[in-house]
Amino acid sequence: MGNDPLRHLAAWRQDLERLAAERKSAGLWRNCPEMKQISPVELELEGRRLVHFASNDYLGLSWKLAELPLKESLERRVGSGASPLVTGRSEAMGQLERRLATFEESEDSVLFSSGFAANTGLLSAIATGGDTIYSDRLNHASLIDGCRLSKAQVEVYPHADVAWLEDHLRGNRHRFQQAYVVSDTIFSMDGDAAPMNELASLCDQYEAILIVDEAHATGIYGSKGAGLVEELGLHQRVPIRVGTLSKAIGCSGGFVASYGSVCRHLHNHARTWIYSTALPLPILRAAYQAIELIESMGSAREGLRSRSRWLRHEIQQIGFRTGAGESPIVPIYIGDPHECLAFSEKLRAKGIFVPAIRPPTVEQGGSLLRISLSADHQTEHYDRLLDALKG
Ligand code: PMP
Repeated sequence: MGNDPLRHLAAWRQDLERLAAERKSAGLWRNCPEMKQISPVELELEGRRLVHFASNDYLGLSWKLAELPLKESLERRVGSGASPLVTGRSEAMGQLERRLATFEESEDSVLFSSGFAANTGLLSAIATGGDTIYSDRLNHASLIDGCRLSKAQVEVYPHADVAWLEDHLRGNRHRFQQAYVVSDTIFSMDGDAAPMNELASLCDQYEAILIVDEAHATGIYGSKGAGLVEELGLHQRVPIRVGTLSKAIGCSGGFVASYGSVCRHLHNHARTWIYSTALPLPILRAAYQAIELIESMGSAREGLRSRSRWLRHEIQQIGFRTGAGESPIVPIYIGDPHECLAFSEKLRAKGIFVPAIRPPTVEQGGSLLRISLSADHQTEHYDRLLDALKG
């Protein structure tokens, strides 16, 4: 021990700074600037106005909800006081859970404080020792962490590789009490869709339980916007669906829609539900109204999907590699993180905000520009984006 009692703190800060310097030189350092969003599709950064192609608020609902009369969207209190097990579920929470169950055509639903909490709480509560989880390699971090927290044996399968999955289910299913197959329906960085029909068939054949995360499909797929499971008519065969209130629903929070028995099980075993304060009341009310609005936004959904197909084609014409599909997440694959960052900065200088997504969010060598579309983007915004990409 030296004379300076705070010397260990200085050394610890130096360690952090050394790690930061390593990340910076690898092109992997992340900055989180303060930005002022001035409309669903525009923001101000360092005094400049940029077209915003980075939000998951695909239908602009976070703005539309804020315009609703206060008496309908706000309660007389904001915070909910404690975890639902301690204070009981508020009326607003019960109403939203029933509304989500109707929307999802499930027996019941459970609200969590975020989509991240829903995934980690669900997987750690439901999959136990003696079970196995097959998890797509490109699943969201919250599903990955949920797998890590569960006591089940976890197998990560190559992205969307149904043949791999079939092989492993055929060879190993008998070794486990339950087998769970877990997948995003729309992948959050690549914007492609999981092979849902094939996954459902494999789960039927090998008596596995399919769990999907509809975070980026809610509001966009299905005739009433409930997601890809609705669009493909797979309700009966996908017994557990996770959603978030934070993207197209325009609020914050997450939910699990499933059988009543699964929901009661989560009330008893999901630690992120049991030990976390329930969502704020205004959010519960606003999300309820968002579901009502989403059901009637079929033409916004259609518009978004056809613009996504068109934009992918235009991007390919310029000479970039993009992903297949029609979700509002349109990637441009760059590869090298330094190059990706430089490209994002070049676009910013031309008035377009598109984030550079780098490892560990994507795999080594897989850095990409992630363009997210909004139903509020107009032709002029797309023209500016394409001009900037051409330049
Ligand atoms: N699942 C997926 C696929 C996501 O993309 C996200 C958010 N990035 C989440 C879950 C977590 O949702 P939330 O932001 O509500 O925590």
